[in-house]
Amino acid sequence: MYLHGTSRINDHGHLEIGGVDAVKLASDFGTPLYVVDEALVRQRCREFVEAFKASGLKFQVAYASKAFCVMAMCRIADEEGMSLDVVSDGELYTALQAGFPPERIHFHGNNKTPQEIEMALDAKIGCFVVDNFVELQLLNALAGERNRKVNILLRITPGVSAHTHEYISTGQQDSKFGFDLGNGAAYRAIEEASKLPNLEILGVHSHIGSQIFEVEGFKMAVEKVIGFATKVRTELNVLFKVVNLGGGFGIRYVEGDSPLPVAQYVNAIVDSINTSFAGHDYPVPEIWIEPGRSIVGDAGTTLYTVGTYKDIPGIRKYVAVDGGMTDNPRPALYESKYEAMLANRATEKQEEVVSVAGKCCESGDMLIWDLELPKVQTGDVLAVACTGAYNYAMASNYNRIRRPAVVFVKDGQADLAVKRESFGDIVGNDVIPERLQKQTAHA
Ligand SMILES: *Cc1c(COP(=O)(O)O)cnc(C)c1O
Repeated sequence: MYLHGTSRINDHGHLEIGGVDAVKLASDFGTPLYVVDEALVRQRCREFVEAFKASGLKFQVAYASKAFCVMAMCRIADEEGMSLDVVSDGELYTALQAGFPPERIHFHGNNKTPQEIEMALDAKIGCFVVDNFVELQLLNALAGERNRKVNILLRITPGVSAHTHEYISTGQQDSKFGFDLGNGAAYRAIEEASKLPNLEILGVHSHIGSQIFEVEGFKMAVEKVIGFATKVRTELNVLFKVVNLGGGFGIRYVEGDSPLPVAQYVNAIVDSINTSFAGHDYPVPEIWIEPGRSIVGDAGTTLYTVGTYKDIPGIRKYVAVDGGMTDNPRPALYESKYEAMLANRATEKQEEVVSVAGKCCESGDMLIWDLELPKVQTGDVLAVACTGAYNYAMASNYNRIRRPAVVFVKDGQADLAVKRESFGDIVGNDVIPERLQKQTAHA
């Protein structure tokens, strides 16, 4: 298993993260357990921020909180000078409760409800990323009721979609998100928004995909944006002060994943904005980006305890852990691949190939196929790497399994960031209607 960030093998032959022995973490906090390498999260934030600072341009790096949104994480994003993307009232609430400055919060989503918009207006967040015509009118009306003028970006679908290694520059119209550039919807949206009294158009937003390993897609998006920006400037007299290029910067989950260093993505974006805007005699806009996975993904490790196993001679050996699709649905949803190791026997040589199963009543509940490990025994601690993004965030209570705790480790210290759910949490929202209540025997 590739060792990310501060992960290393210590003198006991155990995996250690943030200076804390993973075997001790498992026994102190129980398993499954999400472990977050705080130093690595901060390092990733700084890589983005420093690269932009070096460019001399105005910028905002907004952490896409949907990747992993808990209050402690919002605190780190704030301390590191990041902005924050939210996509629901729950994420907004989390950020506000954590004391995240509202003026640096951006609200995304293709179906913000009136209640969500009102909550965000009342909190005085920095910017709404408007997704469609219905929202334009709704936001204008709700802002008007409050005598407010609110900053907006319009989310455009630029017709560039980045699939890790291939870029498709047409055929991306068919998306539930945003105003399409190709069919004129984006143009009409700017036209309409510029006439709405309570909206201030800051610029446009585009997000081309996720787990992107190259810079070409971002460059193509910039090309589309500058073409649009010049047209809109000439014909509608609207100037974009902000261009938001979204997130999607790739990380290394398994061997063969080859992300670029963060600065390389940022420099490519900065260069192409500089060149294309200057080339059109257009004032260089502020650049905003929205990394999610690349901030928290490789900083997360999930620890499990091995329980049962089953050997089917000539076929495969299943090894079952005490979690599964409830704490990491990505393999089942996307066939995502992960690397893992035995945290308690990190120096032992690999002797067998096993497939790691979860404990849910679902054949598809598999975490890793064909993983090389030392001879696995009940009680071993299995560490799965790179689980920081879209794991806790997507966790469920399927089979009424309690969601794991999250601990942040740093400089030899482990601190709880999310408590393990209790049985009380499991039934906490259940109500037994009067007529279904168990009758107590009457005398
Ligand atoms: C999901 C999303 C992001 C973050 O994507 P990552 O792949 O986690 O970096 C950023 N912006 C928007 C609009 C998104 O939907």
